Amino acid sequence: MAKYVPDSKTQRWVIISGSRTKRPSDETPLRPSGFEGQGKKVCPFCPGNESLTPPEVYRIGAGAANGPGWDVRVIPNKFPITDIHEVIIHSPSDTEDIEDMPVGQVTKIFTAYRDRYRTNQELGQVMIFCNHGLGAGASLTHPHSQLVVVPNQINLDAVEMEPITNIVEENTNFITHCPDFSQWPFEVWIAPKVPGKRFGEVTDGELPDLAGVMQDALKKIQVALSDPKNAMFHQADHFIYNYYIYHGKNWFLRIIPRAIHRAGFELGTGLSVNVMDPTMASEWLKRGKLE
Ligand SMILES: [Zn+2]
Repeated sequence: MAKYVPDSKTQRWVIISGSRTKRPSDETPLRPSGFEGQGKKVCPFCPGNESLTPPEVYRIGAGAANGPGWDVRVIPNKFPITDIHEVIIHSPSDTEDIEDMPVGQVTKIFTAYRDRYRTNQELGQVMIFCNHGLGAGASLTHPHSQLVVVPNQINLDAVEMEPITNIVEENTNFITHCPDFSQWPFEVWIAPKVPGKRFGEVTDGELPDLAGVMQDALKKIQVALSDPKNAMFHQADHFIYNYYIYHGKNWFLRIIPRAIHRAGFELGTGLSVNVMDPTMASEWLKRGKLE
């Protein structure tokens, strides 16, 4: 059971969730003892291993519940942060993520996000986020996202929608941009053209558009970070990023490439230092290079 602790002065909270320390990683053998192949690395998110996860709550694709055949699968997190915590498995592939897979599969992932948001929205504030790459906080490498419901009475200290500036790309329904208030190098936001909505209001017709700009944004960031001029960001070999979908009204999706480490100054002051001007970042992403 998660415990919520308020700060004595500000509106901030901390969640004390002791069960998180017991979660598995790819480094530990996951097969139950006595099982064939004991001691080998086994991914509980790969098709055929459905019995290693809690029973699923949602799937897109074929096959019976808790067996293979799915395209996207959603299960309760075995090691929850809060009382409702789900894992959205991006695809049957153990390695391919949004930047590599067919865009139709990305649409299925966003369909799952939207549907699970709708299912949980009456129960609290629905946070959907992804930690891609071990350095970004993922404990298993099989690409997945998470959905956490935070009770409505817990104040969230979250950045709200910023004015749209430094546009990178747009299509019929969405705009990709680098807001002036960017805290991280090559931070990218995706916002719907019609403001004032919650993520659960995204229509079936808008989902492919959203999947398209999302995949484009990640590809553009990956190209920019692999440019020799950005060698200081040390992302040449592995692409590490987080993204999340804002939980409330005026939703947006925020992608944060983890090109730098936060250090003492930021931790002690709450002030972010961004070494990449967002206007330059947007030009770079748009052209695929720096002129
Ligand atoms: Zn896997």
